[in-house]
Amino acid sequence: MGSQAPFPSTVIVIGAGVFGLSTSLALAKRYPATKVIVVDRLTPPVEDGTSVDTTRCIRSDYVDPIYARLAKEAQKKIQEDPDLSRFLFQQGMTFACDGQPSRFTKIWQSTLEKAKTLSGHENIVEQQTREKVYQRIHGEGSQPVPASELEGGSKWNQAYCNLSAAFIDAKECIQIYYDRCMKTPSISFRCGLAVDRIMVVDNRSQGVVLEDGATIPGDMVIVAAGAWSNKLVYLGNRLVPIGHEVAWIKVTEEEQRRWKNMSISTNLSTGLNMFPPYRGEIKILRRSPGYKNTVTVAHPEDSTKQISISWPRTMVSNPTDTIPADAEAAMRANLREIMPDLAGRPFDRSKICWISTTPTGDFLIAPHPSIAGIHLATGGSAHAWKFLPTIGDLVVDSMEGSLPQELVDKWAFRKESKGKDESSPRMDGDPEELGDVVRHHL
Ligand SMILES: Cc1cc2nc3c(=O)[nH]c(=O)nc-3n(C[C@H](O)[C@H](O)[C@H](O)COP(=O)(O)OP(=O)(O)OC[C@H]3O[C@@H](n4cnc5c(N)ncnc54)[C@H](O)[C@@H]3O)c2cc1C
Repeated sequence: MGSQAPFPSTVIVIGAGVFGLSTSLALAKRYPATKVIVVDRLTPPVEDGTSVDTTRCIRSDYVDPIYARLAKEAQKKIQEDPDLSRFLFQQGMTFACDGQPSRFTKIWQSTLEKAKTLSGHENIVEQQTREKVYQRIHGEGSQPVPASELEGGSKWNQAYCNLSAAFIDAKECIQIYYDRCMKTPSISFRCGLAVDRIMVVDNRSQGVVLEDGATIPGDMVIVAAGAWSNKLVYLGNRLVPIGHEVAWIKVTEEEQRRWKNMSISTNLSTGLNMFPPYRGEIKILRRSPGYKNTVTVAHPEDSTKQISISWPRTMVSNPTDTIPADAEAAMRANLREIMPDLAGRPFDRSKICWISTTPTGDFLIAPHPSIAGIHLATGGSAHAWKFLPTIGDLVVDSMEGSLPQELVDKWAFRKESKGKDESSPRMDGDPEELGDVVRHHL
């Protein structure tokens, strides 16, 4: 859509996560006469949506200067928002590594230097020995398990904490955004049925068809369906859903008090990410190579053909799934070193959280390259939650054709796989087929 064309009178937004809700509010603010219809398979906060979780990390120490600037602006907006800020906890984020020669140690070193510049030296606290890393969580005088007792040696050997980072209650904030949308006269919701396909006539979208065959006409369709987007438009390798393991461990009231001020702690060498206790539990996840779930579906843009895609297999579609054994083993190996009291404790629950992963970690915010009236607002990869207050305006800028060129290039549909933001790298290796390794609980 160029800036000369009239703005659509009805916009259908597929997906009520960070991208969909933020875009709907931004549309309503800028174009109050435009009717916005948000369609989701479930009612927000969507139980298995990527945006809905107990916690998400809010930080701006990106190596990439564009995301660093955007994240700083977004974090400020969250801090200044009286509703969101009630669920924001600025307890810092610690980045650890094993210090052995590897790409992870190199990334750790460069992110440390970058963090000092971006967040200010006063916000960076370094821990140069594994004792100091351990003591930052467990207190002065505490001693880590000797490295000789750990299979594979010690991994939490050096660290820095960036005090400017925070964690946020993701589910509560999505609820806040949903409530705001519900109170906005130009926004309405159709929840409970998935969009089966986008209606396209003469290379122009006309609206959407729901699973039950009902149609919703509209002159613009925004695909904000996160990890599910590749069934609605053909995305090839531009966006691949990859699942990552997440688990929760209950802590006692005494433990909650003991660890209440700890920071989010992440280990670049092992991929473990651990949140401070919140509402009686500690959440851990791993930036593993991840999991895929291969299915065969109709080609979204040519129903005479079929394609194989990875597709989210979640707690909603497969409620008895629990994370694979290798994922649990890797989490527990980390806990034995950094949180020994929790290493043998049962997980309260676990899940695979699906990410709309892009090769460079850059979002996909662009018009469809060949079908008029479709706009993409997805590809959040593992880092888009923090842009909740600002991403919608950037999507509307993109629809208007007023997005700055550097962002047009960054978030384009057809994009070279140049570089990668390595602020929180994934482990080496290819995603495993989830169906081969998933376990079940009763
Ligand atoms: C384990 C994990 C940790 C993360 N940590 C962080 C972090 O610390 N900080 C950070 O900033 N980001 C983080 N992220 C990334 C962030 O959560 C995502 O980038 C962001 O939430 C993506 O939002 P979304 O709107 O694209 O997707 P979603 O929230 O998944 O929204 C998509 C919606 O589309 C709906 N939908 C899909 N298909 C259809 C259909 N056919 N019809 C109707 N509705 C449909 C779904 O039901 C869903 O509600 C993390 C992600 C994961 C998985």
